[in-house]
Amino acid sequence: MPELEQALAEVAAEMTERSDRGAVATYIPQLGKVDPKKFGIAAVTNDGRLILAGNAEEPFSIQSVSKVFTLTLALGKVGDALWQRVGREPSGNPFNSIVQLEHENGIPRNPFINAGAIVVSDILLAGHQPREAIGEILRFVQFLADDDTIIIDREVAASERATGYRNFALANYMKSFGNLHHEPELALGVYFHHCAIAMSCRQLAMAGRFLANGGRNPATGHSVVSTERARRIGALMLTCGHYDGSGDFAFRVGIPGKSGVGGGILGIVPGVASLAVWSPGLNENGNSKLGSERLRSSRG
Ligand code: GLN
Repeated sequence: MPELEQALAEVAAEMTERSDRGAVATYIPQLGKVDPKKFGIAAVTNDGRLILAGNAEEPFSIQSVSKVFTLTLALGKVGDALWQRVGREPSGNPFNSIVQLEHENGIPRNPFINAGAIVVSDILLAGHQPREAIGEILRFVQFLADDDTIIIDREVAASERATGYRNFALANYMKSFGNLHHEPELALGVYFHHCAIAMSCRQLAMAGRFLANGGRNPATGHSVVSTERARRIGALMLTCGHYDGSGDFAFRVGIPGKSGVGGGILGIVPGVASLAVWSPGLNENGNSKLGSERLRSSRG
């Protein structure tokens, strides 16, 4: 299907010209200095075709997209017991909101808002040192993408920690309800590091393959998660993957997607392909502005 190559190349060329690109995140300097003109897109089809366009090989901070991979890993460790500590409902609130947590007794609405992902990090700690849990997450992502060159950007992780007052507040608050089993600082150490994983669109699309293919790596046939779990992770991406912009993304794009404030989005077309798009400028919900628009058009 050379049409797909052509379509992505046209999208990238058109997107590079756009002037209304949204605003890059500035809460840490490493994100603030990223060139807003960058645009990359990658697709890996279940039958093994890899299509890249624009800046698809350039690593960026995947930020909250990493929450898909930590959730997958944590479900593998504790199974459905995870849902006693984290909900499965869209939040209708910003990703770092603290208000809802009080009403819901320290149980975050879903695993993709910050509070939920911090609980998932706490689960992955499982009595170990943060360094071990962080290493396990990185190896898992490298395994999924079949790429050992993926790294954690230590400078980004250090900046996240230095400026992470609101995440500390969320973690301390949940600890007061007994919903963190380790010290907040340790769970946050894991959280800040997985948000700081740097990946290109190509690597991200490769890492998402198992979700597009019913839980199995389409290249090796190796099962990463059961078909049912892949579907459930996809359902959460569809309903909660874009914070309080999730309903709009589902309405316009209609596929499971997960965004991050680095401007990346992982999109899954079940049974067909894993897609990654990167455009660092964000809309008012903290989701990539051009990235979400482009996924919509790539759906036709
Ligand atoms: N590291 C960011 C934070 O905790 C991730 C947020 C995001 O990507 N939405 O604020």
